[in-house]
Amino acid sequence: MTDFTEFARPHAVLDEYLREAEVAHAHLCAGQVLGVRLAMLGLEKLGIKDPRGNKEDRKRLVTFVEIDRCATDAISLVTGCRLGKRALKFRDWGKMAANFVDLGIKDVSTGKAIRIAAKESSKALASAMHPEVEGKNQQQMLAYREMAEDDLFTKQWVKVELPAEEFPGYKGERIVCADCGEGINFRREVLRDGRVLCRACSGDRYYEAL
Ligand SMILES: [Zn+2]
Ligand SMILES: [Zn+2]
Repeated sequence: MTDFTEFARPHAVLDEYLREAEVAHAHLCAGQVLGVRLAMLGLEKLGIKDPRGNKEDRKRLVTFVEIDRCATDAISLVTGCRLGKRALKFRDWGKMAANFVDLGIKDVSTGKAIRIAAKESSKALASAMHPEVEGKNQQQMLAYREMAEDDLFTKQWVKVELPAEEFPGYKGERIVCADCGEGINFRREVLRDGRVLCRACSGDRYYEAL
C-alpha cells in the first residue's frame, strides 16, 4: 500500500520550488523541473537541509553547473548558490549536470561532492510515459515530476579540489594590470616576462578592440 504521507511530502516541496522557479525564471518549463529535482537530490545526498535560510548550511555549499540553460536558474534557486556570491561556479561543458560540493563545517574543506547528471534516456522515457500529451516540453514537464530518481539521473561521489581563492569568502589582494591598469581580483592575474597582467592583456581575450 502506498504511504500517502511520505508520497505527498517531497512533491509538496517540489511544487513550492517550482512556483518560485516560475517567478524567478519568468516561465515554467521542463528544464526548471529537471533543475529543481537535480538540486533537491544534490542537497539530500549531502544532508544539507536549508542552504537558503540556515547560515551553517549556506556556508557549506558550493555548486558547479555545467550548462547555462533553464535548469541552471532552477539549481541556483534551490541551492541559494549565486554567481555574485561566488558560490555558483560555471563550467561551460554543455552538459545537463551539476556538482554539489560540501565544504564541510568550521572552514575545513572536505571537497566531498556529488555530481548529478540528467540521463539522456530520460527524454525518450518522458514521451513513452505521456504519449497522450502534445509537445515535448509539456510531456517532459509532466514526466520529470513523476519519474523515478534513477530513471532521471546518474549520481557519482567525487572530490573537488577547491583552492582558497575559489572559496566564496576569499579575501585577497587586488592586483593592477601593468598594461591596461584595470584591477584584478581572486588571483586571476598572469605573470608574463616578469610583468603582472590581466588575462585579456596576456592574450586570453574573448573580444577584439574596435
Ligand atoms: Zn525555461
Ligand atoms: Zn590588462
